Amino acid sequence: MVLGELGQRITASFRRLNQAPIIDDDLLDEVLKEIAAALLHADVNVRYVSELRSNVKKRVLLESDASGVNKRKLIQKAVVEELVRLVSTDRKPYKLEKGKCNIIMFVGLQGSGKTTTCTKYAHHYNRKGWKTALVCADTFRAGAFDQLKQNASKVRIPFYGDYNETDPVKIAEEGVELFKKEKYDLIIVDTSGRHKQEAALFDEMQQVAEVVAPNDIIFIMDSHIGQACFDQAKAFREVVDIGSVIITKLDGHAKGGGALSAVSATNSPIIFLGTGEHFDEFQPFDAQSFVSRLLGMGDLKGLFQTITEAMPLDKQPELLNKISKGRFSLRDLYEQFQNLQKMGPMSQLMQMIPGMSNLMPAGAEKEGVKRIKRFMVIMDSMTDTELDCEVQLNDSRKLRIARGAGASIPEVNLLIDEYKRMEKMVGKMGKSGLFGKGGELTQ
Ligand code: GDP
Repeated sequence: MVLGELGQRITASFRRLNQAPIIDDDLLDEVLKEIAAALLHADVNVRYVSELRSNVKKRVLLESDASGVNKRKLIQKAVVEELVRLVSTDRKPYKLEKGKCNIIMFVGLQGSGKTTTCTKYAHHYNRKGWKTALVCADTFRAGAFDQLKQNASKVRIPFYGDYNETDPVKIAEEGVELFKKEKYDLIIVDTSGRHKQEAALFDEMQQVAEVVAPNDIIFIMDSHIGQACFDQAKAFREVVDIGSVIITKLDGHAKGGGALSAVSATNSPIIFLGTGEHFDEFQPFDAQSFVSRLLGMGDLKGLFQTITEAMPLDKQPELLNKISKGRFSLRDLYEQFQNLQKMGPMSQLMQMIPGMSNLMPAGAEKEGVKRIKRFMVIMDSMTDTELDCEVQLNDSRKLRIARGAGASIPEVNLLIDEYKRMEKMVGKMGKSGLFGKGGELTQ
């Protein structure tokens, strides 16, 4: 991510703090100066930066009087908490309710990434099993309907729009009615964005909001424009009740800090970040997790959530039961590979593991994903008895499997070695006493 440099600079200041023999006021000032320079470089507003600096200083002076406090830890904790505060708001995000019809309206300027983000958002929930639909109420931009239609088809999500209708309010109303009748959980309405904040755009936005009565209005904020997001967000907020914010294009520009800290203008929480043009390049936002990742501290909370969402353990009672008995077959490995693919890009997962974010070289993700796909093709040419490990994989079986998959014998051996390694681990877990009789986790 583009903000990686900011993270590295703050981490370097923390390291300096940890290595210094004495922590006195001069060192504190120097470290805070370095952190402030890094934040300014990332385009964070100068007012917020000086606030952060003086808040940390005040807290350190106040709390370090207590005897026995570790001053290094105190400073780091205060910096982390102030960074979290910088990207947080008091307002809680709207919570989607499954089983109810949630109507979500997207607003923002043209080119901010609104249409792409509508699809990313729809895809995110669709993958989790939500019945999701898209409505194209952008009649201003030529090609908007085609774009949404194409995007929606790519991720197989139903959409509504009309080439011939020029009234966006009518389209929004009709589309939402249609999907409401069909009992959709999530109806996403994409609206027009224009070059400037024209009065006509705002009128239209208000009218659409009136007819569709959205549960949440999401403002799309383009990080490329940095601190200018602040005025833009304010202008939109004066017209409609923005409930949440999504920041886009955080992959490509050094001004990410400006956009992130501009969220205070909306007093609405950031709920997702767009980090690329691909539909998978979309991350849920949690201020605490974000700051932890930024500083290379990992994000175990996010990791656990992602894993359990992709493969809820309660939906895998058979697997748990098997693991508790130390049993693990090639078929189980195949299913775990399938689950892994559902979790989203590997690099996002790696960022959540403490200390790993720097270890995943660019491009390694593609290699990892390719290898898993190769392994799955090899397993596709196995028989049921082979997958269930009921027979020995002798040389003639390996040859047949390799031929069937268009692979080589060393590749098949590599898969078997990988499998054996995991089987051994599962065996150990089975003996660990971590599971109850029914396979349930006991610790
Ligand atoms: P709209 O006019 O607001 O609907 O914007 P679009 O969805 O058409 O997006 C404008 C351009 O930004 C397109 O080329 C998108 O592919 C690109 N885009 C959208 N989101 C992101 C993102 O998170 N990262 C990058 N790099 N490009 C993005």
